[in-house]
Amino acid sequence: MAATKAGTLYVVATPIGNLGDLTARARDVLAAVDAICAEDTRHTRQMLNALGLERPLLALHDHNEAEIAWKLVERLKAGECLALVSDAGTPLVSDPGYRLVREVRAAGLAVSPIPGACAAIAALSVAGIPSDRFCFEGFLPAKGSGRRERLAELAKETRTLVFYESSHRIEEALADFVAAFGGEREAVLARELTKLFETVLGDTLSGIAAKVAADENQRKGEFVIVVRGCEDDTAARLIEGQRLYAKLAEHLKPSVAAKLAADISGAPRKALYGGGEG
Ligand code: SAM
Repeated sequence: MAATKAGTLYVVATPIGNLGDLTARARDVLAAVDAICAEDTRHTRQMLNALGLERPLLALHDHNEAEIAWKLVERLKAGECLALVSDAGTPLVSDPGYRLVREVRAAGLAVSPIPGACAAIAALSVAGIPSDRFCFEGFLPAKGSGRRERLAELAKETRTLVFYESSHRIEEALADFVAAFGGEREAVLARELTKLFETVLGDTLSGIAAKVAADENQRKGEFVIVVRGCEDDTAARLIEGQRLYAKLAEHLKPSVAAKLAADISGAPRKALYGGGEG
């Protein structure tokens, strides 16, 4: 069977570190397409060189995707077949490609996945934290205030949570996790998966934060943070009640804010505000 069909866009997963993780089918498709759309053409060229492949490369990134998508659609309509790759892992997962895929599908053309590595799934597969239901949160906001707000919204989520983080922010992000979810929450920090310094660190959030703070090497590389969901309904209500109370108390009397927050969240009013009036 031929590796590719005319007029098809192949969304091809590439390794997240170890080149051996490129699938045989991904290699066949990359070798057969008319051109490869790549987030960073230099990076992808290196991968192709290592595989002994040479194909035309087109840059497709967040800044030009909307502008060039229609041109790629025209090429597909003319019968070419194209591949889309990102720097690592599965395109569209915290990576460009969404607009292109959408336009190609809207034009009635085929988009076919060539599945493979994805850091979030790789981390989840070794975390030992319930994985039957999980939500992928990708990168948290870069600014501290935005990050803390997002984490406060997620604190009562009962599904396992999966985040991406870079070395620049790992220490402050972990401190924010402890503040928002409590230091006792179970988590796994998966670092440099499939690479030389692969580390999978399982502990409470405060235990992980302490280990990362104490060892500079644990702050290097790329990270996935897997956090156990909020297990206890009572704790979830309390977290939500505290979040609402903090917001409402900016505008209302504390006792009124506490009553409203308690009514909405189901948390006991006294646990939100101990200032009298029962
Ligand atoms: N599309 C990719 C995927 O399928 O996983 C993710 C791309 S996103 C721009 C890059 C982030 O993924 C990194 O900052 C890190 O959080 C995570 N990541 C990528 N490779 C990783 C690895 N080998 N180990 C741990 N995390 C990794």
